[in-house]
Amino acid sequence: MSVAIKAVRGVHDILPADTPRWQRVEATARRVFEAHGYHEIRPPIFERTELFARGIGELTDIVQKEMYTFEDKGGESLTLRPEATASVLRAYVEHGLHVQPKPVRLYTIGPMFRYERPQAGRYRQFHQLNLEAVGEVHPGLDAEVIAVLMELFQGVGLADRLTLALNSIGDPACRPAYREKLVEYLRRRAAELCQECRERAERNPLRVLDCKKPGCQPVLDEAPSILDALCRECAEHFAHVRRYLEAMALPYRVTPRLVRGFDYYVRTTFELLTGELGAQNAVAGGGRYDGLVQLLGGPPDPGIGFAVGMERVVLLLSSDSNKAGPLALLIPLGDAALLRLFPVAQAVRKQGAVVELGYGVRRLRSELDRANRLKVPYAVIVGESELEKGEALIREMTSGAQRVVPLSRLEGELMTLAGRR
Ligand code: AMP
Repeated sequence: MSVAIKAVRGVHDILPADTPRWQRVEATARRVFEAHGYHEIRPPIFERTELFARGIGELTDIVQKEMYTFEDKGGESLTLRPEATASVLRAYVEHGLHVQPKPVRLYTIGPMFRYERPQAGRYRQFHQLNLEAVGEVHPGLDAEVIAVLMELFQGVGLADRLTLALNSIGDPACRPAYREKLVEYLRRRAAELCQECRERAERNPLRVLDCKKPGCQPVLDEAPSILDALCRECAEHFAHVRRYLEAMALPYRVTPRLVRGFDYYVRTTFELLTGELGAQNAVAGGGRYDGLVQLLGGPPDPGIGFAVGMERVVLLLSSDSNKAGPLALLIPLGDAALLRLFPVAQAVRKQGAVVELGYGVRRLRSELDRANRLKVPYAVIVGESELEKGEALIREMTSGAQRVVPLSRLEGELMTLAGRR
């Protein structure tokens, strides 16, 4: 026998037991996004490496350490996308979408690739829902985009378990001065920081604020706050975003240490956090990226967007009961009963109920075992005597209680049970 080939480290199969949850999240996202006027765009999964280097920033961890970059047979450097915004905006520029009424509202769903150290909730191929609104600078759009994100999580029933962290990281007018002040502070207290923070302090100082190591926390807690360093325009923008969120009764927590892993963000940044997934506590993140479209060779269109990590959402949902399995196993005992149950199965399936059907050749005991393994709440039994009397037995699997229904009413009974789930 040959040795079985396994999947690559850090990637995973999404198995049939999990796909119902994935489909539920995706369907909710499509419904919510489209109800707010967003349209789907599907950019390719690989791009020229230069797009990400320029878009995300040469000095970010993603570009420096985490990209799947390869040369194709023509010698061109290509990269599997580590995030979607750069691709969506490349397409926006390339296809002249900026001539449409603004903001141009786009979303995309699909896999991303990052060479990170795999652990629970962190993978090398993972999936995101991405939403982008391009061409509008008004802070009302920031609040609206955040409201769409919250509505998505209300739709999947997780909003109450998440906290919205909100920050402003300034813009090219005020951030450089803050950056300098921060570097100076971090240098002064370098001895108290971990090795990684010391290196980052020179390369990408704002990211130091993101360090989760307990030893670094006292220094980071006392670091100068970006919110004290905002220029007047940025401070006003932030105040408006907050006011609009409050008007929509969307709770948030101002988190001055919230910085993100991309260079392109300006002003508003946000994350949705959970306390249930250990270190991988962000379920979604986003922010404003005025200037990025221009950096990618397009018009000076501002924009804002977010990315939701599907794996983490599904992990949060996996504690919920599985309502997606079949409703019932229909058990005919003999071919005559099978002939009678085939049209019933067909009729309920047409109306959306999922049922399994035996073929009448196994004993009742082994069919009931199968019903248990399928975890169906009901079994429907039609043996010779039931068939003669024109009846079926509906057995509730957990209690074992059985009741008789006329075969002519079986379809309606099954649909009533399906409706109660
Ligand atoms: P980012 O694009 O880094 O802002 O990430 C947005 C969201 O994608 C995060 O909040 C996570 O939920 C998810 N995410 C990012 N990186 C990974 C990864 N390596 N594995 C799984 N999910 C991820």
